[in-house]
Amino acid sequence: MKKVYLDNASTTQIRSEVVSEMIKILSEDFGNPSSTHGYGRSAKVLLETARKSIAKQINATAPEIIFTSCGTEANNWILRSAVKDLGVERIITSKIEHHAVLHTAEVLKQEFGIQVDFVTLKSNGEIDFTDLVELLSQNKRTLVSLMHVNNEIGTILNLEKAVRITHDYNALFHSDTVQSIGKTEINVQELGIDFLVSSAHKFHGPKGVGFAYVKKNAGIQPLFFGGEQEKGLRAGTEAVHQIVGMAKALELAYQHLKEESAYIASLKKYAIECLEIDFPQMKINGEETLYNILNVVLPLPEDKTSMLLFHLDMKGVAVSRGSACQSGSVKPSHVLAEILDSEEVKKPSLRVSFSHYNTKEDVDVLMDALRSI
Ligand code: PLP
Repeated sequence: MKKVYLDNASTTQIRSEVVSEMIKILSEDFGNPSSTHGYGRSAKVLLETARKSIAKQINATAPEIIFTSCGTEANNWILRSAVKDLGVERIITSKIEHHAVLHTAEVLKQEFGIQVDFVTLKSNGEIDFTDLVELLSQNKRTLVSLMHVNNEIGTILNLEKAVRITHDYNALFHSDTVQSIGKTEINVQELGIDFLVSSAHKFHGPKGVGFAYVKKNAGIQPLFFGGEQEKGLRAGTEAVHQIVGMAKALELAYQHLKEESAYIASLKKYAIECLEIDFPQMKINGEETLYNILNVVLPLPEDKTSMLLFHLDMKGVAVSRGSACQSGSVKPSHVLAEILDSEEVKKPSLRVSFSHYNTKEDVDVLMDALRSI
């Protein structure tokens, strides 16, 4: 049976060049970058070269890149320190953020008594900028946290506009760019953004490593204590092989961005055409979405919702649904619950997310499996 992986918003296959680079480091360059002897100095060179390479891809300076264990950690760190150390009294965010932001904001509200406001969303998943301006007009030390690309429906925030409005009101801007780094060009200098976060396994790098961009002199303080690594901002011996793998993956992602994004966009277009033929009443969730994510409500009976992914899995197709299945019950995803009406949200939704490793044949296998439901 042909196995088809169409769940690239969840995680991606590591590029073979990245694996080779990481294996070399695991077997040859095992020094601790904090050691002062030759082994340590070699590891330090690898670490700093990776930092420079990553900084270059997003037009940051090397000291503004801080390595973390994942995107979740980076989001937690920035939000927490903004409240604890930068005097942030209010976080403005949206109800369709990843839980790494939503749950963190909730915990900070309980722990520090901060205010958490949610900007209004339009039914196409876009942020209502008029409401953002309205919220920002209240005079409070504020951090705005809005994701660049939504991981479930792929909607894209106009980052430039969001940062500009936020700064007009002297607030700070953080973006969860986990789904967009390596997939869209990002220029932090031009954006003037304060913080962003990234995770290597979303752009064909290894799991368990990410980074935060923290604008120079932002004043962010550490989440962990016990070491001087990362200029004291993130204690703990750096995972050199992971970090070098991440830098290589990002370099390759941007090197091939133009042709790979065009190819992936053509696959998405093909999938939409196929779905429209077999399921003419299907509805695409979100408008103006990134070229790699397609989220649809399928015109199937509600009772098919719980078995949809299982059925596709049995046919060798890995996709995900815009809803999480907990203990046998089907709970609508918090993202779809925000943008769909109460009837639509009960219907089976599917998130198909592509990478350059996919082919049209993969889409054909998905369609065959869907037709047999
Ligand atoms: N933010 C978004 C938008 C994501 O899609 C994910 C991963 O699913 C995360 C954060 C968490 O990243 P990580 O898996 O590196 O913790």
